[in-house]
Order: sequence, then structure tokens, then C-alpha cells
Amino acid sequence: MPELPEVETIRQNLRRGGATLPSILGWNVESAQVLWARSLVMPGVDEFKRRLIGQQVVDIGRRGKFLIVELSKDALLIHLHMSGDLVVEENREPVATHCRVAIEFENGQRLAFIDARKFGRLWLTAEKETILSDLGPEPLDDAFQAQDLYRRLHAHRRRLKPLLLDQTFLAGLGNIYADEALNLARLHPLMLSNQVSAADAERLWRAIRAVIEEGIQRNGASIDWVYRGGEFQNYFRVYQRTGQPCRECGEAIQRIVIGQRSAHFCPNCQRL
Ligand SMILES: [Zn+2]
Repeated sequence: MPELPEVETIRQNLRRGGATLPSILGWNVESAQVLWARSLVMPGVDEFKRRLIGQQVVDIGRRGKFLIVELSKDALLIHLHMSGDLVVEENREPVATHCRVAIEFENGQRLAFIDARKFGRLWLTAEKETILSDLGPEPLDDAFQAQDLYRRLHAHRRRLKPLLLDQTFLAGLGNIYADEALNLARLHPLMLSNQVSAADAERLWRAIRAVIEEGIQRNGASIDWVYRGGEFQNYFRVYQRTGQPCRECGEAIQRIVIGQRSAHFCPNCQRL
């Protein structure tokens, strides 16, 4: 599943142009196709298609794992979830098998939302804040400091790994970057959040920012066919490295299951 660094890489590409996507700034919508209605949360298919026509792409933003295509009147919010992907291609090409929504521009190009597993969602709205209001702080935001993380951790009594995945606690982390951050901070994924010391919280805060910044710098992680062009998968410390030696101490990386999700960690560096 694309996490903050992957969505940020897509944002930067769509904004400035990059290896996998051109800049779409200034493009004007000519028409839209909805091939799978349930990909749209709001509005309905007819209104979605009608309202998009004539709007111009004025900026590309991001909040947590949401990509925000700022249009002249509305914002188009896109959440890629498990398998969503965006491609820019020519309108005259036939749409891909798993294309769910295609936004066609006056310049003959289109932005296609491809989503094999159909969990991805789109919103077209003039009030994006209502959809984003439940999200926790943005990890790279200057306003989010180590003492804020400490306070938030102590407001809960939950295991660190599932808490870090909770988007209302902190926006943008998924399995990869939560595992990597906990390892870098030398904290066990099952540790209770209200038992973290101020020094632990500061290490975790630094680690979260470090792994996210490195992820963005390496264009995200490409671990399956969904997200392409990333290189961070070659630098994982623990994620999907079960049985391989820890890069710090040589101990074999372990995988445990917490709830429905797995966690990878070094039993020597990250003691409970
Ligand atoms: Zn280790």
C-alpha cells in the first residue's frame, strides 16, 4: 500500500514532472469517465462528470496518504489504498482493464486511476477539510515536535505498532515506515504507548522523520507491481527481512502478527 513517501513522490511528479509522471498543472478537464462507480465516495457519477468539466488543475497537494488535486473550483481527493495507481496517457489509447476513473484533458492527455483491487477512493468536493479533519498531525510538519509525540503517546495505552498505523494518531505511516521507524528508534512494536519515556519519544520522533525523508528521497518503496520507480525497498532495515541479519547487530529479524497486521523487528535491538 502506498504510504506518505510514495504519495508524496506521486505529488511531486504530478506537480513538477518526473520519471514516471508529467506535470499536469494548468491542464483543463474536457470530460471524465467513471468505469467503477464505487470508486467515487462523492458526488454521484453524473455530478462528478458534470462538475469536473472546464476545471483547471491549479496545484497538487497531499495530506497523510491523500493526494489532493486542487482544481479551479473543487479539490479532487484520491486515496490509493491497497492497489491504486495513477498514470498519465493519451486519450486515444484504450483504457486499461483495471481503470476505474479517467479524467480527460483538453490537451489530449488523461489522468487514469487504475485499481485492481477496487479499494481506492475519490472525492470531488469544495470542502476538503471535512474529509481530512480526522487525520492526525503531518510527521514532517514543523509544528509537530517530539514533545507533541510524547504527549500523544501518553494520551493512549496502546501498542506502538498499531497506534502508529492509526491515521487519526499520526497521518501517513503504514506498515513499512512504522516498522522502519520503530527499529531505528530501538523500540519494540508491542511496547505500550504510555510507557515510552521522553527520550524514547524523541528518538521515535527523529526516526519517523528520518525514514519518511529517506523514503521520499529514494522515490518511495516499490515492493510489488502497484507502485513503480521507488528504491527505498533496497534499504529496508527490517521490513520484509524476516530471518535476515539485523544491519546493526546481526541478529535474525523476526516477524510477529499484531491484530491483522504483521510487524518486523530485531529482537536484540528492540527489547520489550
Ligand atoms: Zn539488531
